[in-house]
Formats: sequence, structure tokens, C-alpha cells
Amino acid sequence: MTTPFPTSITRRESEPGRPAAIEIAWSDGATAVYSPRLLRDACPCATCREQRGAVQPKPLLPVLAPKETVPLAVTGMKPVGQYAYSIEFSDGHSSGIYTLDYLRELA
Ligand SMILES: [Zn+2]
Repeated sequence: MTTPFPTSITRRESEPGRPAAIEIAWSDGATAVYSPRLLRDACPCATCREQRGAVQPKPLLPVLAPKETVPLAVTGMKPVGQYAYSIEFSDGHSSGIYTLDYLRELA
């Protein structure tokens, strides 16, 4: 079986009651919607994988860093070879390479 490929990728702007998202239409007819936060949290780069594996000390009170109060956005998405995309986020992070298989998994 071959991996379906995206036939269209659109960035949905946020609307009242609907946050911004990336919408991918796949060659097998499926449509998947990805929130920037989902993609960011699933970033497959070595740094993020390490961070997710590390035990985070629990803060006493939830504290929001200034940039966390701004909704995260996907600022760029470009093909890497034929089977992957690199995604750039508004927090400046862009080292994750998302393979098509991985994007399908996340959907
Ligand atoms: Zn990363």
C-alpha cells in the first residue's frame, strides 16, 4: 500500500469559535485538520523529543510565559523531498520534519 499524499494544504484562519488550523486533503479522500498546538507538541525533532521525555518539575502555580498567551500559529510549511514537510511555527521553531506517514498518524 502506498502512503496517500496531500492534494491540498490550506491554512484556516481563526474565526469566532474555531481556532486557526492546517487542513490537509489527502489523495485517498480523507481530510484532516491539525491545530498548530497539536503539530507543535508532536514535533519530531531531537530537541522536542528529548524535552517530552524529560520529567518536568511541577510549578506551584500555572504560569504563562508571555509568548504562550499569544495563540501559536503555523507560519510556514514546505516540502522536504517527496515524503515530508518542515513546519515553521510562530514561536520560531522550525526544525521538525514531519513525514507524510507521521502526519497521517496525527490526524
Ligand atoms: Zn522540535
